[in-house]
Amino acid sequence: MAALCSKHRLKHLQHLCSFGFKIPRRNFAGKGKYDYDLVVIGGGSGGLACSKEAAQLGQKVAVLDYVEASVRGTTWGLGGTCVNVGCIPKKLMHQAALLGTAVKDAKKYGWKIPEPVSHDWATMSQAVQNHVKSLNWGHRVQLQDRKVKYLNMKGSLVDEHTIRGMNAKGKEMTVTARNVVIATGGRPKYPTHVPGALEFGISSDDLFWLKESPGKTLVVGASYVGLECAGFLTGIGLDTTVMVRSIALRGFDQQMSRLVTDYMEAYGTRFSWDAVPKKVEKLPSGLLQVTWTDTQSKQEHQDAFNTVLWAVGRAPETKTLNLKQVGVELNEDTGKVIVAADERTSMSNIFAIGDIAQGRPELTPTAIKAGKLLARRLAGHSKLLTPTNVFTPLEYGCVGLSEEEAERRCGKENVEVYHAFYKPLEFTVAERDAGQCYIKVVCEGHGDQRVLGLHFTGPNAGEVTQGFALGLQCGFTYAQLRDTVGIHPTCAEELTKINITKRSGLDATVTGC
Ligand code: FAD
Ligand code: NDP
Repeated sequence: MAALCSKHRLKHLQHLCSFGFKIPRRNFAGKGKYDYDLVVIGGGSGGLACSKEAAQLGQKVAVLDYVEASVRGTTWGLGGTCVNVGCIPKKLMHQAALLGTAVKDAKKYGWKIPEPVSHDWATMSQAVQNHVKSLNWGHRVQLQDRKVKYLNMKGSLVDEHTIRGMNAKGKEMTVTARNVVIATGGRPKYPTHVPGALEFGISSDDLFWLKESPGKTLVVGASYVGLECAGFLTGIGLDTTVMVRSIALRGFDQQMSRLVTDYMEAYGTRFSWDAVPKKVEKLPSGLLQVTWTDTQSKQEHQDAFNTVLWAVGRAPETKTLNLKQVGVELNEDTGKVIVAADERTSMSNIFAIGDIAQGRPELTPTAIKAGKLLARRLAGHSKLLTPTNVFTPLEYGCVGLSEEEAERRCGKENVEVYHAFYKPLEFTVAERDAGQCYIKVVCEGHGDQRVLGLHFTGPNAGEVTQGFALGLQCGFTYAQLRDTVGIHPTCAEELTKINITKRSGLDATVTGC
């Protein structure tokens, strides 16, 4: 070790750390030169994972997290989008909606439930917010336990090693760091060209923190956020309309997407297809009058709502970071940070992870994985498969390629699709329509038929898909899937029995046990 120059020695120590060796902090050459080995800007899924992992590896770490109030003035605590205004409150409200369905089912199973059954928004939102606040607190404690310095400050770069922080009162401080990670995520977009959009509409940042029910709601946008929010709003009994300008769930397998929206329509969600909003006005009654254009007929339509929810995508939080000035390149179209496979930006000591990084899936597990891998200085997550789940009333879980993408990459003739329409046991007594409960396994058409993609609509699709994602990550084949013994009676077992190819044209309805 004595023979190594300080730069190589540092690299050597970092290398050892990446293999799990615990090296006392005093051995790092960087000590003394900079205040911190690592400063992370953004305490969300990616930033927290990265800072905690780095601290465990002996690095001196600080994380800055600051929540800019939404257009409507909503704010929240430490933990980022997922914890406060994303996955967690969304899934809990989805659960509230599923319970509504379970209550309906319960009657068929003999439960005597006094009518009318109604839902109280304030009770739900209070419970959800209390849980979120407990998570905020949990994150603070974890940072403290791991000796990560938490600064409730808005960060920006002065130069590649200097970070300026400003707190809510305008008090400033600067810290220096050998390495910097940008993990500032994104925020909902507003269609600012639509008069009244900013003034009268809300975004998902507000929805989860509303103290009163949003009432009759128009959801504009039909991707993850739009459909999930519309799904739980419908499920708790609110009159909900989704405005779709083109297709639903762009980027997903479109046959599956249609099953999801068909189910939602049957479940009570209204859809306004081929429609774009033109303006939002406030009526004397307080209702919001929305005018929209039918993109096919070019005709205008109007309706009044209590709430207009914009779910038209998210924009990266890069504007106030001073990135360009310090030499960090941004993608001109998306505004996201351009990163290499190892998350490095155009500046060698500055990295970007999570939603802010160009070309990365906007999902919590990928942000966490990227943060941890980066902290361990092991580059790249591009080979990792990303399972995901859409928590609509009928859940849709998938991992790997869609049928369209497999055919595009391999050629239609080289792809074999196995599929099945099945009936979840819990739907039977409840007499629920199972017409959209469907499984699709996309395989290579030759040899051992490696599985390329797996798609599942039905109860607990996320739980089902998570396990099969391991199989896909390990490169499992159709034959191995068929060799897998099912757990009876479950919905997941239907995957192990799948045997009808789409090409055969045979009826894919599962019959019998
Ligand atoms: P974030 O979690 O957004 O964290 C960024 C943090 O940086 C925030 O706290 C922000 O306030 C802070 N910040 C920004 N600028 C600064 C600054 N200058 N200084 C200091 N701090 C700053 N993903 C899933 O996997 N499953 C789901 O079910 C799911 N549901 C979702 C539902 C909704 C409604 C939404 C909106 C998203 C959902 N996502 C889901 C996506 C997931 O939330 C994000 O992919 C994930 O949170 C991204 O993590 P991140 O670390 O990149 O950023
Ligand atoms: P997306 O960018 O995926 O979708 C935006 C939607 O809004 C599309 O339907 C788009 O239509 C529509 N749209 C855009 N602009 C307009 C406009 N001016 N007028 C009308 N409609 C418009 O954004 P989301 O916010 O839904 O999701 C962001 C990311 O968050 C996702 O990619 C996902 O990674 C993550 N997420 C994950 C979840 C999960 O894992 N379950 C849940 C929620 C979010 P068009 O298709 O025509 O462009």
